[in-house]
Amino acid sequence: MLYYQLMTNIFHLLLVEDEPQTVQMIRFYLEREGFSMTTAADGPSGEAAFGRQTPQLVILDIMLPGFDGLELCRRIRQQSAVPILMLTARAEDTDKAIGLGIGADDYLTKPFSPTEFIARIKALLRRAYRYNEPPRPTTLGGPRLQIDPARRRATLDGRLLELTPIEFDLLNLLMANPGWAFTRSHLLEKVWGYSDEAGEETVTAHISNLRRKLGSNGAELIRTVRGVGYAYQEDA
Ligand code: CA
Repeated sequence: MLYYQLMTNIFHLLLVEDEPQTVQMIRFYLEREGFSMTTAADGPSGEAAFGRQTPQLVILDIMLPGFDGLELCRRIRQQSAVPILMLTARAEDTDKAIGLGIGADDYLTKPFSPTEFIARIKALLRRAYRYNEPPRPTTLGGPRLQIDPARRRATLDGRLLELTPIEFDLLNLLMANPGWAFTRSHLLEKVWGYSDEAGEETVTAHISNLRRKLGSNGAELIRTVRGVGYAYQEDA
Protein backbone atom coordinates (compact mmCIF):
# COMPACT_ATOMS: atom_id res chain seq x y z
CA MET A 1 0.00 0.00 0.00
CA LEU A 2 1.31 3.43 0.77
CA TYR A 3 4.47 4.06 2.66
CA TYR A 4 5.76 7.54 2.91
CA GLN A 5 9.34 8.08 3.64
CA LEU A 6 9.18 11.30 5.52
CA MET A 7 12.06 13.48 6.43
CA THR A 8 12.22 16.73 8.23
CA ASN A 9 11.67 19.58 5.82
CA ILE A 10 15.31 20.32 5.39
CA PHE A 11 14.97 21.36 1.77
CA HIS A 12 12.85 24.27 0.71
CA LEU A 13 11.89 24.38 -2.96
CA LEU A 14 10.44 27.16 -5.11
CA LEU A 15 8.07 26.30 -7.96
CA VAL A 16 7.16 28.98 -10.49
CA GLU A 17 4.29 27.71 -12.64
CA ASP A 18 0.95 29.20 -13.68
CA GLU A 19 -1.02 26.01 -14.36
CA PRO A 20 -2.91 25.12 -11.17
CA GLN A 21 -3.10 21.40 -11.99
CA THR A 22 0.64 21.09 -12.48
CA VAL A 23 1.23 23.07 -9.29
CA GLN A 24 -1.10 20.80 -7.36
CA MET A 25 0.50 17.64 -8.69
CA ILE A 26 4.07 18.82 -8.06
CA ARG A 27 3.16 20.02 -4.61
CA PHE A 28 1.59 16.69 -3.74
CA TYR A 29 4.61 14.65 -4.78
CA LEU A 30 7.23 16.96 -3.31
CA GLU A 31 5.48 17.31 0.02
CA ARG A 32 5.05 13.56 0.14
CA GLU A 33 8.83 13.36 -0.12
CA GLY A 34 9.10 15.67 2.86
CA PHE A 35 10.17 18.82 1.03
CA SER A 36 8.63 22.15 1.88
CA MET A 37 7.49 24.41 -0.93
CA THR A 38 6.74 27.92 -2.04
CA THR A 39 4.87 28.53 -5.27
CA ALA A 40 4.52 31.56 -7.52
CA ALA A 41 2.41 31.88 -10.66
CA ASP A 42 4.30 34.46 -12.73
CA GLY A 43 7.81 35.78 -13.42
CA PRO A 44 7.81 38.84 -11.13
CA SER A 45 6.32 37.08 -8.11
CA GLY A 46 8.70 34.16 -8.70
CA GLU A 47 11.63 36.55 -8.57
CA ALA A 48 10.27 38.15 -5.39
CA ALA A 49 9.71 34.74 -3.77
CA PHE A 50 13.28 33.74 -4.64
CA GLY A 51 14.60 36.82 -2.87
CA ARG A 52 12.47 36.23 0.21
CA GLN A 53 12.83 32.48 0.62
CA THR A 54 16.32 31.61 -0.65
CA PRO A 55 15.13 28.14 -1.72
CA GLN A 56 17.61 25.29 -2.15
CA LEU A 57 16.18 24.35 -5.53
CA VAL A 58 14.08 26.16 -8.11
CA ILE A 59 11.61 24.65 -10.61
CA LEU A 60 10.70 27.02 -13.41
CA ASP A 61 8.08 26.61 -16.08
CA ILE A 62 9.14 28.38 -19.28
CA MET A 63 5.73 29.76 -20.25
CA LEU A 64 4.82 32.23 -17.53
CA PRO A 65 2.89 35.49 -17.37
CA GLY A 66 4.86 38.63 -16.60
CA PHE A 67 8.26 37.56 -17.84
CA ASP A 68 9.00 33.96 -18.77
CA GLY A 69 10.97 31.21 -17.06
CA LEU A 70 14.02 31.79 -19.27
CA GLU A 71 14.26 35.40 -18.13
CA LEU A 72 13.68 34.41 -14.50
CA CYS A 73 16.41 31.77 -14.83
CA ARG A 74 18.85 34.41 -16.13
CA ARG A 75 18.00 36.75 -13.28
CA ILE A 76 18.41 34.07 -10.62
CA ARG A 77 21.72 32.97 -12.16
CA GLN A 78 23.09 36.49 -11.83
CA GLN A 79 22.91 36.16 -8.07
CA SER A 80 22.89 32.45 -7.23
CA ALA A 81 24.17 29.00 -8.20
CA VAL A 82 21.02 27.31 -6.85
CA PRO A 83 20.03 24.17 -8.82
CA ILE A 84 17.36 25.02 -11.41
CA LEU A 85 15.05 22.56 -13.17
CA MET A 86 13.18 23.98 -16.18
CA LEU A 87 9.82 22.61 -17.28
CA THR A 88 8.97 22.89 -20.94
CA ALA A 89 5.80 22.20 -22.88
CA ARG A 90 7.52 20.63 -25.90
CA ALA A 91 10.78 18.87 -26.63
CA GLU A 92 11.69 21.63 -29.14
CA ASP A 93 11.42 24.21 -26.38
CA THR A 94 13.88 22.19 -24.34
CA ASP A 95 16.36 22.18 -27.23
CA LYS A 96 15.87 25.92 -27.68
CA ALA A 97 16.30 26.63 -23.99
CA ILE A 98 19.48 24.52 -23.81
CA GLY A 99 20.77 26.36 -26.87
CA LEU A 100 20.31 29.68 -25.11
CA GLY A 101 22.68 28.57 -22.39
CA ILE A 102 20.82 30.38 -19.64
CA GLY A 103 22.29 28.20 -16.92
CA ALA A 104 19.51 25.81 -15.94
CA ASP A 105 20.85 22.53 -14.54
CA ASP A 106 18.22 20.22 -15.98
CA TYR A 107 15.15 20.19 -18.22
CA LEU A 108 11.99 18.15 -18.16
CA THR A 109 9.40 18.07 -20.95
CA LYS A 110 5.70 17.95 -20.05
CA PRO A 111 3.91 15.71 -19.47
CA PHE A 112 6.31 13.93 -17.15
CA SER A 113 5.76 11.11 -14.70
CA PRO A 114 5.94 11.91 -10.98
CA THR A 115 8.59 9.22 -10.59
CA GLU A 116 10.84 10.82 -13.19
CA PHE A 117 10.23 14.26 -11.77
CA ILE A 118 11.15 13.23 -8.21
CA ALA A 119 14.22 11.37 -9.50
CA ARG A 120 15.45 14.52 -11.28
CA ILE A 121 14.88 16.66 -8.18
CA LYS A 122 16.77 14.24 -5.97
CA ALA A 123 19.61 13.99 -8.48
CA LEU A 124 19.97 17.78 -8.49
CA LEU A 125 19.94 17.91 -4.70
CA ARG A 126 22.47 15.10 -4.45
CA ARG A 127 24.82 16.90 -6.81
CA ALA A 128 24.45 20.30 -5.17
CA TYR A 129 24.27 19.37 -1.50
CA ARG A 130 25.35 15.75 -1.26
CA TYR A 131 21.75 15.12 -0.34
CA ASN A 132 21.41 11.58 0.83
CA GLU A 133 17.82 10.79 1.80
CA PRO A 134 18.19 10.16 5.50
CA PRO A 135 15.29 7.88 6.46
CA ARG A 136 14.49 9.74 9.63
CA PRO A 137 11.28 8.70 11.32
CA THR A 138 9.28 11.82 11.89
CA THR A 139 6.11 12.36 13.79
CA LEU A 140 3.42 14.26 11.97
CA GLY A 141 0.45 16.09 13.33
CA GLY A 142 -0.52 18.65 15.89
CA PRO A 143 -0.76 18.85 19.66
CA ARG A 144 -3.53 16.25 19.90
CA LEU A 145 -3.36 13.87 16.98
CA GLN A 146 0.04 12.47 16.04
CA ILE A 147 1.17 9.87 13.60
CA ASP A 148 4.50 8.10 13.20
CA PRO A 149 4.56 6.82 9.61
CA ALA A 150 7.71 4.72 10.00
CA ARG A 151 6.35 2.82 12.99
CA ARG A 152 2.76 3.01 11.75
CA ARG A 153 1.48 4.33 15.05
CA ALA A 154 -1.13 6.98 15.63
CA THR A 155 -1.98 8.58 18.96
CA LEU A 156 -4.68 10.94 20.14
CA ASP A 157 -3.85 12.84 23.31
CA GLY A 158 -1.07 10.33 23.91
CA ARG A 159 -3.42 7.37 23.65
CA LEU A 160 -2.62 4.77 20.98
CA LEU A 161 -5.33 4.46 18.33
CA GLU A 162 -6.33 1.05 17.07
CA LEU A 163 -6.49 1.57 13.32
CA THR A 164 -6.87 -0.87 10.47
CA PRO A 165 -4.10 -0.70 7.82
CA ILE A 166 -6.44 1.16 5.43
CA GLU A 167 -7.48 3.63 8.13
CA PHE A 168 -3.84 4.22 8.92
CA ASP A 169 -2.92 4.87 5.28
CA LEU A 170 -5.87 7.20 4.90
CA LEU A 171 -4.95 9.18 7.99
CA ASN A 172 -1.29 9.20 6.98
CA LEU A 173 -2.08 10.70 3.57
CA LEU A 174 -4.31 13.39 5.06
CA MET A 175 -1.85 14.24 7.83
CA ALA A 176 1.14 14.40 5.50
CA ASN A 177 -0.67 17.24 3.74
CA PRO A 178 -2.27 19.35 6.49
CA GLY A 179 -4.99 21.66 5.28
CA TRP A 180 -5.02 20.03 1.88
CA ALA A 181 -8.48 18.90 0.76
CA PHE A 182 -8.54 15.56 -1.01
CA THR A 183 -11.46 14.43 -3.14
CA ARG A 184 -12.93 10.99 -2.49
CA SER A 185 -11.69 9.76 -5.84
CA HIS A 186 -8.16 11.01 -5.12
CA LEU A 187 -8.17 9.23 -1.73
CA LEU A 188 -9.48 6.08 -3.34
CA GLU A 189 -6.76 6.14 -5.94
CA LYS A 190 -3.94 6.91 -3.50
CA VAL A 191 -4.93 4.66 -0.62
CA TRP A 192 -6.80 1.80 -2.25
CA GLY A 193 -4.95 1.99 -5.52
CA TYR A 194 -7.88 2.07 -7.94
CA SER A 195 -10.47 4.49 -9.25
CA ASP A 196 -14.12 3.65 -9.56
CA GLU A 197 -17.16 5.77 -8.86
CA ALA A 198 -18.84 3.20 -6.64
CA GLY A 199 -15.65 2.91 -4.61
CA GLU A 200 -16.09 6.46 -3.35
CA GLU A 201 -18.70 5.13 -0.92
CA THR A 202 -15.92 3.04 0.58
CA VAL A 203 -13.95 6.21 1.27
CA THR A 204 -16.96 7.82 2.97
CA ALA A 205 -17.41 4.75 5.16
CA HIS A 206 -13.75 4.62 6.19
CA ILE A 207 -13.65 8.35 6.95
CA SER A 208 -16.65 7.90 9.19
CA ASN A 209 -15.01 4.95 11.02
CA LEU A 210 -11.83 6.95 11.41
CA ARG A 211 -13.73 9.90 12.84
CA ARG A 212 -15.50 7.64 15.30
CA LYS A 213 -12.13 6.40 16.54
CA LEU A 214 -11.01 10.01 16.97
CA GLY A 215 -13.90 10.58 19.36
CA SER A 216 -15.80 13.81 19.84
CA ASN A 217 -13.27 15.82 17.81
CA GLY A 218 -13.31 13.44 14.85
CA ALA A 219 -15.15 15.75 12.47
CA GLU A 220 -12.96 18.67 13.53
CA LEU A 221 -9.67 16.86 12.94
CA ILE A 222 -10.83 15.40 9.65
CA ARG A 223 -12.92 18.14 8.18
CA THR A 224 -15.45 17.92 5.44
CA VAL A 225 -14.56 20.48 2.80
CA ARG A 226 -17.84 21.17 1.02
CA GLY A 227 -17.85 20.26 -2.61
CA VAL A 228 -14.32 18.86 -2.39
CA GLY A 229 -13.80 16.10 0.15
CA TYR A 230 -11.76 15.85 3.31
CA ALA A 231 -8.81 17.59 4.91
CA TYR A 232 -6.83 17.08 8.09
CA GLN A 233 -6.45 20.25 10.09
CA GLU A 234 -5.37 20.77 13.64
CA ASP A 235 -4.83 24.16 15.11
CA ALA A 236 -1.55 24.44 16.96
CA1 CA B 1 3.01 27.69 -17.77
